[in-house]
Amino acid sequence: MKTFKIGYIDTVHGECPHCNEETLLVAIVTDFYKCTLCGEETRQYVNGSIKYLKLDERDREFIQKEKEVDEKELEKKDGKKER
Ligand SMILES: [Zn+2]
Repeated sequence: MKTFKIGYIDTVHGECPHCNEETLLVAIVTDFYKCTLCGEETRQYVNGSIKYLKLDERDREFIQKEKEVDEKELEKKDGKKER
């Protein structure tokens, strides 16, 4: 299990449940990753070992909300920056 950072983007190696390939997954929001191979979104599930699951409706709603929060946070931060 390798975790490393490219800038502020978290990427991990894992097996994608969509294409069943060992691939690089990019964090989109906490616990959710996007496969760089097929572009599908997955949920990281930790239970002794780490697995990546396909999303259900709830997961998709959660991601949508998280993304909106992130965007608002970013706007706030940008607003505070003085240049
Ligand atoms: Zn995939």
